[in-house]
Amino acid sequence: MMIAKVIVDVPAMQTDRPFDYLVPEHYQDIIKPGVRVIVPFGPRNLQGFVIAIEAKTEVKKLKPIQKLLDVEPILNEELLQLGQWVTEQTLSYQISSFQAMLPAALKAKYEKEIILVNREEFSTLSQNLKPLFQESDRINWTDVEDEPDFVRAIQKDLKIGLLEVDYVVKAKGKKKTHRVLSINISKDEAERLVSSLPSQAGRQKEVIEYFILNDMQEVSRIDLKERLRATDSPIKTLIDKGILVEKNVEIYRDPYSHREFKRTSSLQLTEEQTNAISPILSSIESNQHQTYLLYGVTGSGKTEVYLQSIEEVLKKGQQAIVLVPEISLTPQMVERFKGRFGSSVAVLHSGLSVGEKYDEWRKIYRKEVNVVVGARSAIFAPFENIGIIIIDEEHESSYKQEENPRYHARDVAIYRGQYHRCPVVLGSATPTLESFARAKKGVYHLLTLSKRMHEREMPKVDIIDMREELRTGNRSMFSEVLFEKLQDRLAKGEQTVLFLNRRGYSTFIMCRDCGFVVNCTECDISLTYHRSQNLVKCHYCGHEERAPSTCPSCHSEHIRFFGTGTQKVEEEIGKLLPEARVIRMDVDTTSKKGSHEKLLTAFGEGKADILLGTQMIAKGLDFPKVTLVGVLTADTMLHLPDLRSSEKTFQLLTQVSGRAGRHDLPGEVVIQTYTPEHYSIQLASGHNYNDFYHQEMIMRKVHQYPPFYFMTLITVSHPEITKVVGVTEKISSYMRTHLSSKSIVLGPAASPIPRIKNRYRYQCMIKYKDEPRLKHVLREVLDHYQREIGQDLQITVDMNPYMMM
Ligand code: ADP
Ligand code: ZN
Ligand code: ZN
Repeated sequence: MMIAKVIVDVPAMQTDRPFDYLVPEHYQDIIKPGVRVIVPFGPRNLQGFVIAIEAKTEVKKLKPIQKLLDVEPILNEELLQLGQWVTEQTLSYQISSFQAMLPAALKAKYEKEIILVNREEFSTLSQNLKPLFQESDRINWTDVEDEPDFVRAIQKDLKIGLLEVDYVVKAKGKKKTHRVLSINISKDEAERLVSSLPSQAGRQKEVIEYFILNDMQEVSRIDLKERLRATDSPIKTLIDKGILVEKNVEIYRDPYSHREFKRTSSLQLTEEQTNAISPILSSIESNQHQTYLLYGVTGSGKTEVYLQSIEEVLKKGQQAIVLVPEISLTPQMVERFKGRFGSSVAVLHSGLSVGEKYDEWRKIYRKEVNVVVGARSAIFAPFENIGIIIIDEEHESSYKQEENPRYHARDVAIYRGQYHRCPVVLGSATPTLESFARAKKGVYHLLTLSKRMHEREMPKVDIIDMREELRTGNRSMFSEVLFEKLQDRLAKGEQTVLFLNRRGYSTFIMCRDCGFVVNCTECDISLTYHRSQNLVKCHYCGHEERAPSTCPSCHSEHIRFFGTGTQKVEEEIGKLLPEARVIRMDVDTTSKKGSHEKLLTAFGEGKADILLGTQMIAKGLDFPKVTLVGVLTADTMLHLPDLRSSEKTFQLLTQVSGRAGRHDLPGEVVIQTYTPEHYSIQLASGHNYNDFYHQEMIMRKVHQYPPFYFMTLITVSHPEITKVVGVTEKISSYMRTHLSSKSIVLGPAASPIPRIKNRYRYQCMIKYKDEPRLKHVLREVLDHYQREIGQDLQITVDMNPYMMM
C-alpha cells in the first residue's frame, strides 16, 4: 500500500496536519513529496501538497488521491523543510507557508458547480431551471448566484435531491502559448512546389516563398500573417495539405523584453571595496555559511560588491538571490543587474501581473536563469544550488510580511544560507539596531565602506526650525532658506528632489472653531481628504464619503483642510514658481502599471526641475543633476505609536539626503521640522550613524525594547468590546502564569487603532530575553480558542512585530 501524507488547502487549526490518502496504482511510480494533488475532503475536493510518501497508515477508510497536478515536485526537499520551519517560527498554518513560497498562479481556485443528479428526472426540475440544464448536467454557480429566482429554485431542487453541489478545483497559472508554423518539406521540394502551383494559388506561393527566402524552418503564425498581410485561408490550405504543420509553443511573458540593457563589466574595486569583498569571496570559495553586514554609506559602492560576488558565484555554477525593497525595485536597480548578467536574471516584484510572475518563477524553477532580483517573496526562489543571498537595504520593514505567515526575509535568508552553506550579505547605510548589535557581538561579520565613491563629500545638511518661520510670519510650506535654494537651482538648471511623507491633498479635516476632526465611523482614525473627487477616505477599511462643507459638529464654515499632501505642495509651487516643471510621484500618480518607470525616466532626462514625492522617491535613485534635496516635514514619522519611530526617521532622512550630490555637482539638503532638537534629526543631518546607534541603544535599553528584548504581539479582535477585553485579559494572565518571571507581559491594552472594520482590537505584548516555552504556550492559547476562532473571534500572533497598529 502506498500512502501520501497531504497538507490540504484549509487554513485552520483543525486541519493543520497531514491527512493520509491512498495513492492509486497509476500514480505510484510518479508521485513524489512536493507535488500538488487534488483530494476529496469532506463534501468537496481540495488542492493539497504531498509532504511524504509512506507504506503504512492508521486510518481505516482511506480515500484515494483524485488527481496529480504536477509531474515534478514544485517544492523540493529543502523547500518542504523550510515550509515546516516557517510554520513553526511564525505559528502559522503549514498550508499558508507553502502557498507563501509559490507564485499566486499556483494557488488553487475553487468553483462551485450545480449538477443535475439524474438526466431522467429532468422533467421534474423547476420550470425556470430547465433551460439551464438543457444542454449540460453542470452549471457554474457564479452564472446564477446573482439571480434570486434561480437561487430559490436551485435551493428547492437541492433539498429534494434533484440537484447536487460540487466543488471543482481549477488550476490557475495558465501558460501563454503562441502558434508556430513549421514547414514539413525540404527546401528543394518547396522550390519545386512554388513553380508548380497554379496562378490562383498566389497567396500560398507567397507563404512558401517566405520560408525559402528567409531560410527558415519555423515562424510564428502572427508574424507571418503580419509580414505578408495574409489571411488565414492560404495558411489553412497548406496545413490541410500537410505542407505546413502548426503547433503551440510556450512563451514567457517577459515584462522587460522591450528593454535593451547596456552591458557593463566589472569595475576596478577600490581598496575599501576589496577589503569588504574578500571575506565574502572566501566564503563562496570554501562553501561556508556566514552572515555579513555590509555597512556602507550611500554611494559607497555596495552594489558593485554585490555584483562581483555574484559573478564569482556564477563562475562556480551556482545561483544567487538578491532581495531589494519593493519600493526601490526601480528600473535603475534592475538595469544594474540585467546590465551585468543579461538574460540570466529573473525579476520578481509586485508590479508584475500574476502571469508574468508565474513565468519569471518558472524560469527560476527550470534553471534557465541563475540570478533572481526580487522583493521579499523572492527569498523562496526554487534554486537548488545557492551560492549567495544578498539583502540590500536590510533595514527596510517591507522584508517582514504582515500577514500569515509573518516571516522576516532575513531569517529565511539565514536559514537557507545555512542549508546551502553560502554567505548571506545584508547591506545598508543605516542598518537596523538588531543587525548592527549582532555585528558588534560577532554574530554577523561586519564589513564597512566608510567613503563615498570618487572622494565625493556627503551633502551639507541644513535643519530649519519651522516654528521659527511661523513666528517671523512665514506661513508658506517652504522656509525662506529652502525657497531661495529652489530658486537658485531653477536659475542654474539643476534639479531638486522634494520629499514629503504624506499622501493625498491633505491628510485630515479639522474645524478651526471647535477642533472637530472627521473620523472614520468604523476605524477611529481620521479620514483623508482627496481633493480631485472631493471625498474623504479611510485608508484602513476603504470607507469613503463626501467631504463636508460645514462642520458636522458646530456648523461653522471654517472647516478647513489641514496638513499638506503632495498635491497641495504641487499647487503651491505652481503659484510661487510658475516656471518650474514638477513631476509628482505618489500612490495616486503611480498606480498605473509602468507609470513609476515613466515618471523617473522623464525626470532623468531632465524633463522636469523638481521631483516631488513620498517614500517611494527616498531610495535608490541616482540622478547626476540633483543638487538639492528638501524634506518638507521631517517629523511626521516621529510621532507614530511605534518603538522604531526614531530609527525610521533617521533611516529615512539619511536615505533622502543620500540622493543629493552623487555625481560631479556637490549636493545640499534642507530638512524642515517642528522638532529640530530631536537626536534622530540632528544625527541624520550629521550623517552620524554611529552616534545615533549609541543614543538609540540607550533608549532601547531603558525601555526594554529590541535588540535587548525579543517581542511578541498578540492581537485579539471581535465585534463586541466586552468579549475582546475578556479574552485579552485571560490570555494576558495565562501568559503571566506560564512564562518565566523574567519576561514582561503587557496588557490587555487597546491597540493603537482600536477599531477596524467594526471590530474592536486589544493586544497583549510580551517582552522576553529567553523563553524556550513561549511558542508552546502560545500554541496552547490558540488551541484553547480554536473553535471560537472559526467564528467571530480573531487572534493573531506576531513573533517579531514591526507594526504595532
Ligand atoms: P551604494 O549602493 O553603496 O549606494 P553605488 O553602488 O550606487 O553605491 O555606487 C555609487 C556609484 O559609484 C555608482 O555610480 C557606481 O557605478 C560607482 N562605483 C561603484 N564602485 C566603483 C568602482 N570600484 N569604481 C568606479 N566607480 C564605482
Ligand atoms: Zn466645528
Ligand atoms: Zn475605516
